[in-house]
Amino acid sequence: MIVGIDLGTTNSAIARWGDGAPELIPNSLGDFLTPSAVSLTDDGDVLVGMAARDRQSVYPDRTATAFKRLIGTQKPILFGTTRFTAEELSALVLKSLKADAERHCGEAVTSAVITVPAYFSDRQRKATRRAGELAGLQVERLVNEPTAAALAYGIADREDRDPFLVFDLGGGTFDVSIVEIFDGVIEVRASAGDNRLGGEDFNEVIAGIAKERLRLPLGTAQAKLREQVRAAAERTRRALSEADSATFDIVWQDELLSTEITAEQFEAAAAPLLDRLREPVLRAMRDSKLHADAMSEIVLVGGATRMPIVRKAVTRMFARFPNATVHPDHAIALGAGVQAGLRERRADLAEIRLTDVCPFSLGVDVMARDASGAAHGGLFQPILERNTVLPASRVHRFVTAHAQQKKVEFGIYQGEARTVAANIQLGSVEIAVPPRAAGEIAIDCRFTYDVSGLLEVDVTVPATGEKRLVVINDGDGLDAAEAEERRAALAALKIHPRDQAANQALIARAERCFESFVGERRALAGQLLAHFEGVLATQDPRAIAEAMALVTDQLDAIEGERYL
Ligand code: AMP
Repeated sequence: MIVGIDLGTTNSAIARWGDGAPELIPNSLGDFLTPSAVSLTDDGDVLVGMAARDRQSVYPDRTATAFKRLIGTQKPILFGTTRFTAEELSALVLKSLKADAERHCGEAVTSAVITVPAYFSDRQRKATRRAGELAGLQVERLVNEPTAAALAYGIADREDRDPFLVFDLGGGTFDVSIVEIFDGVIEVRASAGDNRLGGEDFNEVIAGIAKERLRLPLGTAQAKLREQVRAAAERTRRALSEADSATFDIVWQDELLSTEITAEQFEAAAAPLLDRLREPVLRAMRDSKLHADAMSEIVLVGGATRMPIVRKAVTRMFARFPNATVHPDHAIALGAGVQAGLRERRADLAEIRLTDVCPFSLGVDVMARDASGAAHGGLFQPILERNTVLPASRVHRFVTAHAQQKKVEFGIYQGEARTVAANIQLGSVEIAVPPRAAGEIAIDCRFTYDVSGLLEVDVTVPATGEKRLVVINDGDGLDAAEAEERRAALAALKIHPRDQAANQALIARAERCFESFVGERRALAGQLLAHFEGVLATQDPRAIAEAMALVTDQLDAIEGERYL
């Protein structure tokens, strides 16, 4: 079975092509959303999902969330003495989704389509693909998140649609795509985005207000406090989606600290972030040569578009109300499910095709001479311009710059800036040339970008027939043996038994409540925890189920409505 996976910063979801429509697959707790969170217990068991998320405020140094922001880097994420990369943690989330889907569907999941932010760089895409492989999945294709959302939105009635804009603000990234549907072809006209803008940044705004008012001592040694502030900021921000003001409160050193934040105060403090939403929208419209009034709809996706201040900003930007009919948390996974159906060549999708674009420019560094003949190095020569339709292959011919030059080296870059220093370096390639006069030897540099957004560069010297092929970032410097070692290490981790996931999640939640409240509520959380642990020890399934329902109800009462 091929599945479609939305590997989100905050939550992930998995779907497949069902009977004429995509369908989400629930996890072992019966939820469609699985928090992208991993926690390691004292016994060395790995917890993924809700249980891990709930452990975050109690065990911040053994729990990780939002690691998608670090994917594509080798930055270690430490759990005590055990270290992981973001890629490995993502693999654990994917593994858990795969296991849940296999259990639910009673079928092996062999392959997956995984979504990535449109603005993900080549390095981040390759790392995502490797995460899938580490999880034992064959990654059929990577699909841009707003494209997936557009698929979910556009496929519903199979009608042609004039260009519409997908505005996707998730937990950590912001993407914009302009999409058109004509004769079964879903065509992405342009994509743009900001890799470092999402709900988490808005949490920091709330945290900033609270820190100042409550004079919180946020040093680097205060991991627990930082985590509590983050969780409280998230609660406050979500509450501000429902009301005009909300209370930020945390318990620190047995003291309840709280402050009231109004929607207006939040909006004012978040103004710089709201401003940053404009640029990608403008760029996508400019690149597709379509004005705001040519958009038939502005479709909101991504959980963070639930924030009224974001909706207001969008309404102001387009002078009309956006379309909020697609489920912001489900659309991307559903679109990935459509893509999974396309990969399975399902008959009911036979007439549908999808074309996507490369959201950024790719090229090499060159030297140029100015009018006086002085050489300037480090300039960016795009070979594939942004918003080129994929798959694409383009060649650019260069000539040698110096007399008797013996080799040519190209740095490979992604970005839009004039100087390569301001762009992202993806790799480099070197090739030997016969020493001749400057400008005599030609070098052809070809960039090939596939539908998943993965780059290959090949360089040839026609005069000698010399050829070099580089697949950028594959393995990220790891050789086959190292990659195998990492895979084995990950496979050897003890995953907490799935049939106990619900128990574990409830314990983590009760522990979190115990830490977050004082007084009666804390005492009650403690009693509930003790009660539940006692019943678990009896191993009587009926008693456990009853205790679970009771403890869940009581925790709901302590906390108010659950925020996931
Ligand atoms: P996604 O990456 O699409 O799953 O989006 C997750 C982001 O949506 C997180 O930053 C959440 O805080 C945010 N989010 C979800 N629900 C709400 C809500 N009701 N109000 C504000 N933000 C929300």
